[in-house]
Amino acid sequence: SISPDVLKEQLKKTFGFSQFRGEQEAIIQNTIAGNHSFVLMPTGAGKSLCYQLPAIVMPGTAIVISPLIALMKNQVDQMVAFGINAQFLNSSLSRAEINRVKAEVISGVVKLLYIAPESLNKQENLNFLQQANISFVAIDEAHCISEWGHDFRPEYRKIRTIIENINAKLPIIALTATATPKVQQDIQKTLNLEDATVFKTSFNRKNLYYEIRSKKDIDKQLIRYIKGHSGKAGIIYCLSRKRVEEISDLLLVNGINALPYHAGLDPQVRMSNQEAFLNEEVDVMVATIAFGMGIDKPDVRFVIHYDAPKSLEGYYQETGRAGRDGLDGTCILFYTYDDILKLDKFNKDKAVSEKENAKLLLSEMVYYANLGVCRRKQLLSYFGEHMAENCGFCDNCMHPTATFKAEKEVTWVLDA
Ligand code: ADP
Ligand code: MG
Repeated sequence: SISPDVLKEQLKKTFGFSQFRGEQEAIIQNTIAGNHSFVLMPTGAGKSLCYQLPAIVMPGTAIVISPLIALMKNQVDQMVAFGINAQFLNSSLSRAEINRVKAEVISGVVKLLYIAPESLNKQENLNFLQQANISFVAIDEAHCISEWGHDFRPEYRKIRTIIENINAKLPIIALTATATPKVQQDIQKTLNLEDATVFKTSFNRKNLYYEIRSKKDIDKQLIRYIKGHSGKAGIIYCLSRKRVEEISDLLLVNGINALPYHAGLDPQVRMSNQEAFLNEEVDVMVATIAFGMGIDKPDVRFVIHYDAPKSLEGYYQETGRAGRDGLDGTCILFYTYDDILKLDKFNKDKAVSEKENAKLLLSEMVYYANLGVCRRKQLLSYFGEHMAENCGFCDNCMHPTATFKAEKEVTWVLDA
């Protein structure tokens, strides 16, 4: 192990922080001691530091398995800005760049190597990693392993075998912001991490204000809200790419500095739009859910759902991107039952069990939107957490008379 003083000094020196947050220190020591860890913490809690700091203090290179190129780039840029040698290996690199990264890893100067599961799967990379001095393996956004999690990626299911082929003794740390117990169990089982130390904190994001609004005059409401918070960073989530384009155009013609983000855009455009948002050249990102996983922008002040999400889990993850700096964030969901019906129609060609599951998720969404009592209480109870008191910081707690009323009587029948 490493003395607490040395660890704290490194925290200050590299990241400029004077205190660890929550269980960060215990998690870091667990990896250094050679044990497996399973970390369950909400978005913004500071999971990255739990593998970045041990990577810096331990000899060798830490492998960070990460699902998105954009996310790797975001983290590598941050680490490099802190003076740490971090690199990534993914499909965005040329052959020459790949060779350079590999040579640097073998020479022992790289502290963090970010890699996509697809790249990890390649035989040539396995051979290379077997020759390198690896300190431990981090699996970020580990919910991608579970078919019950959003963003499921099948290649993820082979990860444990691959890690063992690199070196059977490597400590593993899996991290996720997934709040559902079902996904948590699935991750632990799939990674064979039943013997890992589990670090779990509350999923309550106290600084986020939850609000539901009617979709009536939504465009006017949206423009008014954003103009009332000009200069503040925000994300508008829309269901379709088409809608993303429409809304970002609408905001632009109304003098709001906005850019679109969705998987249909050219990768170069996507990357530069993301960067413009991260670098504060643009205030508002209008996006599909393709945007945001793991992206660290601390000062997002509002997350607005233009359309209803498919599940409360998705809603919780997307709203979680607000207020990472601990300051207040506002989460507004524009709701109409018609959106639920639309989402339900998308599922019509699915297998019966899948369709039933999707309906169940939607019915939870409907229930949440129509709720007359504390939203946070309901949100957390959905994730198995009990809150004794009302939160005092949601629309229902703060403005009970103005509570949103569904414009239609909801009769949700699970008839599959
Ligand atoms: P997560 O991956 O859990 O969503 P991040 O790792 O992106 O969260 O961290 C969220 C924010 O918290 C980042 O801006 C990060 O710099 C900050 N942070 C992390 N640890 C600390 C700490 N000990 N003190 C202050 N800020 C921290
Ligand atoms: Mg993260």
